[in-house]
Amino acid sequence: MAKWVYLFKEGKADMKNLLGGKGANLAEMTNLGLPIPQGFTVTTEACTDYYNSGKKITDEIQGQIFDAIAELEKIQGKKFGDTEDPLLVSVRSGARASMPGMMDTILNLGLNDIAVEGFAKKTGNPRFAYDSYRRFIQMFSDVVMEMSKTFFEGILDEIKEEKGAKFDTDLTADDLKEVIARYKAIYKEKMGDEFPQDPKVQLIEAVTAVFRSWDNPRAIYYRRMNDIPGDWGTAVNVQAMVFGNMGETSGTGVAFTRNPSTGEAKIYGEYLINAQGEDVVAGIRTPLPITRLEQDMPECYKEFMEIATKLENHYADMQDMEFTIQEGKLYFLQTRNGKRTGPAALQIACDLVDEGKISKETAVSRIDAKSLDQLLHPAFDQAALKAATPIGSALPASPGAAAGKVYFTANDAKNNHEKGERVILVRLETSPEDIEGMHAAEGILTVRGGMTSHAAVVARGMGTACVSGCGEININEEAKVFTLGGETIKEGDYISLDGSTGKIYLGDMPTVEASISGNFDRIMTWADEIRTLKVRTNADTPEDAANAVKFGAEGIGLCRTEHMFFNEDRIPKIRKMILSKTVEAREAALEELIPFQKADFKGIYEVMEGRPVTIRFLDPPLHEFVPTEEADIVALAKDMGLTVEEVKATCDSLHEFNPMMGHRGCRLAVTYPEIAAMQTRAVMEAAIEVKNEKGFDIVPEIMIPLVGEKRELQFVKDVVVETAEKVKAEKGSDISYHIGTMIEIPRAAILADEIAEEAEFFSFGTNDLTQMTFGFSRDDAGKFLDAYYTNKIYESDPFARLDQEGVGQLVKMAAEKGRKTRPEIKLGICGEHGGDPSTVEFCHNIGLNYVSCSPFRVPIARLAAAQAVLNNK
Ligand code: PEP
Ligand code: MG
Repeated sequence: MAKWVYLFKEGKADMKNLLGGKGANLAEMTNLGLPIPQGFTVTTEACTDYYNSGKKITDEIQGQIFDAIAELEKIQGKKFGDTEDPLLVSVRSGARASMPGMMDTILNLGLNDIAVEGFAKKTGNPRFAYDSYRRFIQMFSDVVMEMSKTFFEGILDEIKEEKGAKFDTDLTADDLKEVIARYKAIYKEKMGDEFPQDPKVQLIEAVTAVFRSWDNPRAIYYRRMNDIPGDWGTAVNVQAMVFGNMGETSGTGVAFTRNPSTGEAKIYGEYLINAQGEDVVAGIRTPLPITRLEQDMPECYKEFMEIATKLENHYADMQDMEFTIQEGKLYFLQTRNGKRTGPAALQIACDLVDEGKISKETAVSRIDAKSLDQLLHPAFDQAALKAATPIGSALPASPGAAAGKVYFTANDAKNNHEKGERVILVRLETSPEDIEGMHAAEGILTVRGGMTSHAAVVARGMGTACVSGCGEININEEAKVFTLGGETIKEGDYISLDGSTGKIYLGDMPTVEASISGNFDRIMTWADEIRTLKVRTNADTPEDAANAVKFGAEGIGLCRTEHMFFNEDRIPKIRKMILSKTVEAREAALEELIPFQKADFKGIYEVMEGRPVTIRFLDPPLHEFVPTEEADIVALAKDMGLTVEEVKATCDSLHEFNPMMGHRGCRLAVTYPEIAAMQTRAVMEAAIEVKNEKGFDIVPEIMIPLVGEKRELQFVKDVVVETAEKVKAEKGSDISYHIGTMIEIPRAAILADEIAEEAEFFSFGTNDLTQMTFGFSRDDAGKFLDAYYTNKIYESDPFARLDQEGVGQLVKMAAEKGRKTRPEIKLGICGEHGGDPSTVEFCHNIGLNYVSCSPFRVPIARLAAAQAVLNNK
């Protein structure tokens, strides 16, 4: 019989896949002899089984859960559902990777109408007992039965009003009995059944709810953002309750062994006296800093610090711990490697290396490549910042500068972001439902919540600026307005947030690029020592290229030449070229474009100082360039000596039903070879001139797009070679150059061995390759892909993360075929996937020479390339 349930004492830290992160760590802490309330873990495999069994927990698994309860009863010396001294438990989800968005915690499970009486007697504290029961009913109804919280909040407010109570704590035991009665009544009204009295039923319902939460939309969304596979499943941890709300010698808190925002090696956290865990996380009361515990309860603080240090040394990483003090006795409820900001991750990794606790390799493997993004995020322009007066300030929950229009719901934030606006999400407090809106926002501002609140934790994880816990704000979410510092801010007004200082400003403050710290360089240097894959960049301008070089780019893998034509002074010329009726007229128009294109190439060559530069010839369908505004059409007609009607007719003739699969890429060069000739001239003249002027050893790489057939490439190549040789002769230069192709059409991948006869290099254009392999448009797929995620058909966006099973196999096959024909062929990738860590690893594994990505993602790719080596060790 399979084992579906493990007592904490039966597990180990390395059983994460089976027990989830939380479960494995609880087991490890138990083995270390730490003060952990005991319990058991229902495995991730049981979760998978739940889905495979038609969303049912089988009798076998239920049996093992109740066996574990019996064991726990022995350990605790209490009985589940007992009328004298009932065993109460918490139920928490715990996947392999920690995942906000899933069900979090149910506390006080095991209470019912009878047990609560025993609990009141045993604790000698009826008020506490009834409060625990009413909290349990509320949490169970909300989290397990998915009843709206508002019913319960309404009842609580009603009774407070009736009793003239200001705070929850002003309610007496009898008042709370009344609350419970009304809670149960509303439960029955809404659910049609009595509130479940059998603790076993409560438990199985709660475990089911955790399993179910694995597949709620928020969890699916989070998995997609973080590359977490859908088949991992979540474990469930059932743990004996300890109570932080038993009076002034009790409390509960969350702490990190180092500062999760900055990485500073100093204990960091907060706690609340006389409270349960939910109070800290929900941010309803403002917690005290952990260092205050030293005054409040010196013994507890000392023990707490000893254990915290022990845990950090044991895991050799910064720990995020939850603890509860019950009547002066300290318990640890969980520990895990703490989430941290990008800067903190670097600081902690470097410090741990310096402290001799981890190797450089471990340091490199620890940094979440995607988190580097935040380091490269903007800050406010210093001058603007100095001149500005904040209208308020609160907790600096997640660093970075953000400015945008205020929206009060996650949906409004998301929708307006999709319309192209920069948005700031302002909420009373955030909850996991808000995840998409938070993701869409430049910044997040909350009224409630500490540094460990949902908003703070999630924003830090996403690298989004966040200011939390701004209690001075008076918010009316319904009316979509808030006041702060004497100002009234309505939906759509601009505000600016400094997530590093916690300051809030009125208006749209300008931001400047990020500056990178010494830690960043250290980690990057270590990564560079490890990686074998080269990292290039996609850049079309000298400025972008310079930026990329700063971030460590070793060359340009894709220079999209069409982007150079969209400037105001150039577009009329390219339009003239497109509308030309004869080869002569077209050549004359192209002649005018040469100086621009050549100057751009020279600028890029100078910046790149001899590093390889791949220049891709004109790719998009020509109609993208034609005028649509009447004024532009009139101007063009005048310039070309044509009538407006003639120009319009030609523009219309360029219309295509399916432009992405139409007259674009090398097809343009097949129909208009003079375009390829002009571009070749510009590339070669620029290279020769910069080589002569600056002495850089330049070997231009000319890349032909959208090739699907060897003869097609051959045709264009002949044009390129003829022109290149002509230019060399004219300039008396012996410069060498390479001609290669993109592999972005499935047919090219299939016939890569033949194509390699003509191509000196391949660059995988995985944007088009994905589009054409899946057969859906890279521009429109977003409209229906959401349904594919929700229905678990796809787990991630194939345009962001390479589809390794499908498209990846074409890439692998083409790489092998290309190498067979031409062993020294250079292989790279230049689709958007080139900056995605999982794709970088794939590229390393199939032996590509380089990846190429946008400048800001170059560091991510460098790190991911090093991690690919380490993962293979
Ligand atoms: C590609 O298709 O992957 C590519 C890099 O080219 P573009 O995005 O310009 O079509
Ligand atoms: Mg392409």
